[in-house]
Amino acid sequence: MTALLTPPAGRITLKQGGGGRAMRALIEKLFVKDFAALPFDGVGVGAMDDGAAIKIGDQWLVITTDSHVIHPIFFPGGDIGRISICGTVNDLAMMGATDVLAMTCAVVLEEGFSVESLEAIQRSMVAACREARAPVVTGDTKVMGRGELDGIVINTCGIGLTRTLVRDNGLSAGDAIIVTGPIGEHGLAVMAARHGIELEGDLLSDVAPINALIASILGIGGVTAMKDPTRGGVASALHEMSSKSGVGIVLQESAVPVTPAVRAVGELLGIDPLHVANEGKALIGVRADAVDAVLAALRAHPLGRHAAVIGTCVTERPGSIILDTGFGRRLLAEPDGEPLPRIC
Ligand code: MG
Repeated sequence: MTALLTPPAGRITLKQGGGGRAMRALIEKLFVKDFAALPFDGVGVGAMDDGAAIKIGDQWLVITTDSHVIHPIFFPGGDIGRISICGTVNDLAMMGATDVLAMTCAVVLEEGFSVESLEAIQRSMVAACREARAPVVTGDTKVMGRGELDGIVINTCGIGLTRTLVRDNGLSAGDAIIVTGPIGEHGLAVMAARHGIELEGDLLSDVAPINALIASILGIGGVTAMKDPTRGGVASALHEMSSKSGVGIVLQESAVPVTPAVRAVGELLGIDPLHVANEGKALIGVRADAVDAVLAALRAHPLGRHAAVIGTCVTERPGSIILDTGFGRRLLAEPDGEPLPRIC
């Protein structure tokens, strides 16, 4: 009888899928330790980067995979189909692989799922593939019984080749941190939809493939690190980049682009946009001498119009984010996970 009364300490919680400290701890303890011990020549699972990379001749083959469980499946600005394509395309781009060679798509459906919804999701995936110039070339379909799954889960995998492999651990003191546009739109749009919050202004997810945007800057040189601030938001991604690179990051709060709609919903829900998922943005570390050229190239692209320098890497406090509020400085805590589960 005592077993039933004992709290389920040995059970997975939603927090462990939230993209923050809790998830990283689970992955590091359970998966990475053993997988990373298997013989492999390249950037593997132990690096916990946006994808893995295998040297082939003078190029790198980049591979990445992502499963999508977002709720609701249709949200302002996108749906589970669009995010399934864009999430994988963007993870490849963050490693420098901006030309997608091929993608896979595996769908798990719940018995009773609407065929009309599935058709809409498929149309959305194809449209995103065209935008990203990313072909889906193989896939898999499974159906589970009613109640055994909540509607639909989509897994995609992508591969691409690059001569310019970019990691998330290459920051040095003096590098600038650029964000490619306003933050928090995806997470707060989904949360607003989930909570039935009516808005005066538009609050749409930023979900978009940003491989062409990233391709426009890689030729310039001076890019030292990249990461897309998805689950856990900018705060989580910057913590990962700073700790892996062994630098501190001074983040200028007033320089971080936030739209009035995101600010309003964030305040209403008591959630800091820095902790919220983005699905069409990148954080880019850039050498000081290349900042102007990179910023100009980003701003010349429709998805980078509002790109901004938001921080600088420093030698002090490696692994920490020092938030400069304009009135003083404080450490920005690494989030435990996304404020709400099932955001992508
Ligand atoms: Mg990523």
